[in-house]
Amino acid sequence: MTSKQIIFIILIFITLAVFSYSIWRYFEFFKFTKKKRLKNLWLRLWKTIEVAGFQVKIMRRPVIGLVHALTFWGFLMILFASTEMIFDGLFGTEKMFSAIGPLYNVIMALVDIFGLIILIAMIIFLSRRLLLHVKRFHGIEMRPINEYDAVLALTIILLLMVSLLGMNIFYFKWATISHHELKGAYPVSEFLSRLFPFITASAAWTWYQICWWTHITLIFIFANILPYSKHFHVFLAVPNVFISKVDKPLGYIDNMENITKEVKMMMDPNASFDDAPEEEGNPERFGALDADDLDWTHYFNSLACTQCGRCTSVCPANITGKLLSPRKVMMNTRYRMKEKGPGLVEKGRDYDDGNHLVLGYLTEEELWACTMCNACAQECPIDINQPSIILEARRYLVMEESKAPAELNTIFTNIENNGAPWQFSQHDRMLWAEGLEVPVMSDLVAKNKKPEYLFWVGSAGAIDDRYKKVVREFVKILNYLKLDYAVLGIEESDSGDVARRSGNEMLYQMQALSNIEVLNGYEVKKIITCDPHDFNTIKNEYPDFGGNYEVHHHTQFLQKEIEKGTLNVNSDKFAGKKITYHDPCYLGRANKEYNAPRDILKAIPSVKVEMEKNRSFAMCCGAGGGQMFKEAEKGDKEVFIDRTEQALDTGADIICTACPFCMTMLTDGIKYKNKEEEVKNYDIAELVSISMGL
Ligand code: SF4
Ligand code: SF4
Repeated sequence: MTSKQIIFIILIFITLAVFSYSIWRYFEFFKFTKKKRLKNLWLRLWKTIEVAGFQVKIMRRPVIGLVHALTFWGFLMILFASTEMIFDGLFGTEKMFSAIGPLYNVIMALVDIFGLIILIAMIIFLSRRLLLHVKRFHGIEMRPINEYDAVLALTIILLLMVSLLGMNIFYFKWATISHHELKGAYPVSEFLSRLFPFITASAAWTWYQICWWTHITLIFIFANILPYSKHFHVFLAVPNVFISKVDKPLGYIDNMENITKEVKMMMDPNASFDDAPEEEGNPERFGALDADDLDWTHYFNSLACTQCGRCTSVCPANITGKLLSPRKVMMNTRYRMKEKGPGLVEKGRDYDDGNHLVLGYLTEEELWACTMCNACAQECPIDINQPSIILEARRYLVMEESKAPAELNTIFTNIENNGAPWQFSQHDRMLWAEGLEVPVMSDLVAKNKKPEYLFWVGSAGAIDDRYKKVVREFVKILNYLKLDYAVLGIEESDSGDVARRSGNEMLYQMQALSNIEVLNGYEVKKIITCDPHDFNTIKNEYPDFGGNYEVHHHTQFLQKEIEKGTLNVNSDKFAGKKITYHDPCYLGRANKEYNAPRDILKAIPSVKVEMEKNRSFAMCCGAGGGQMFKEAEKGDKEVFIDRTEQALDTGADIICTACPFCMTMLTDGIKYKNKEEEVKNYDIAELVSISMGL
């Protein structure tokens, strides 16, 4: 065994020992998180290839995204060369993998090219950090240590590339001067080797060895810094995509099965306390007070977070000056586990150091500022779902501490008593239809008829004065089409969406289960609704409780009818008018429906203008997650004003939307800006109905 081998074996042993200890510490912490079983493994694999392999999310910002993507692909290639170095070090060989034949030349040429690309990328990333004041790198959660961490990691990668290219340059020089067989191809290094015209073979060999040792030592150091750095994502980003919520639409929320058991018990008239499932040990806490109340994927997410701040840069709450920052949510989860983890390992699950993630690291003010718009999750390059942690915290605050804002407690009571967030008797739920012919399901079934569609009116459609006008126009269209449909009338109750996203899972499940009982009782198969929130929860979340329906948002339904030619909107009612469309979060981001509303608008003669933030980049109107029913947290501006300003900036005469909440917020925004005379706010159903002269 050569002395090089002996030194190498000692080095790799120390590296692996330290690295294993770091990873083992994390495993110890993971043991205290909640269990979660991953389903849909093939779909996850495909999504991982798409998001991590093809870097589709990072490419949302094409220029800097491409630099990141090239760095990622480059690392994959360089992994081959690094593995070869380890084998060479262990077995005392030189370019051991060259035994694979001509493919080796191709791979080594790519490694050489990517080495240069990554080196340039690192110079760009470091310059951005050190010279340019990029807003998303700053924020209340970013401390100087985070900046040093980033700069240190980028510098190490830069040095890794310098030593890699140095290694290739001097190897090439040595082989060509001393007429040794050149193993591999090195196009960049061959070119750069011209910088050393007078070097001797022995000097080239010495420099090759220096670069080789520098490179491998840096790899070993880097590997042991990573577990304590934000750059842990180098290891965790790809598996993080696999374990994240990639198998469901963004609008889907995980079911709390322990609540389902309780709700079913409560709703079962024949159940007795003896039927209650036996709890072993302490009953499980509802929601999350601390990092160890979260499930293991949440903790994994927090370790994988790159602290890039893309999430915070699109967060409507943060943009408008509120305290909430989704990046902080992830960073705090990691910090909190680092703080509490050792105590848990030493003293067991009951360990309490008097601090908590919720109400300690994350304040109520931050947690209640979230609109559940999912802009952060959409933007995260490694598919972290930040709102799911915020929701767990809200669940804790509401169900364990009864600490919801007073206005939300009022809507919970209203939903419980009246089946709607507003104080409005359930028996008045058909008043919106006065003067219109609207078939009611119970009447039709009494006549032995089973309509093809159920029109789900939704609480806002039945009660909110402005949105009642929208559903009336939509029903006129349904009647014009002679569609075989019915509404539930006073049997319809709130979908529970607001309750769920405000943390009241118990109330949500009670609403969901009772609605499903009614819907399944009528054997409903197809549902149309104007409300994207109800559309999302009935389509994506009711199946968890046995409610499986084909659900259409009214924009999807109208688009199909226009395409079939059954609705003619080709009139001059809006000719020359400028229309801009605001994407509702729960139709767009949550369910990826961006085209249907735009296709409808395309069919209506008018001038279409897009807001700067549109489609998946669209900014929330500020109403989701219960915000519409409560005072906004303090900030520089209200979200609805910001979004209305963006719409007004287009110079539009009409701001069009397709959601009752968006309609309320944008109407308020137009009033706030004193633009009621010049700018109108219409739902897309109204534009269709008016265009048709109904
Ligand atoms: S869901 Fe929306 S409001 Fe909530 S943290 Fe994410 S971006 Fe911010
Ligand atoms: S959660 Fe995602 S988007 Fe936000 S800072 Fe972390 S990696 Fe970046």
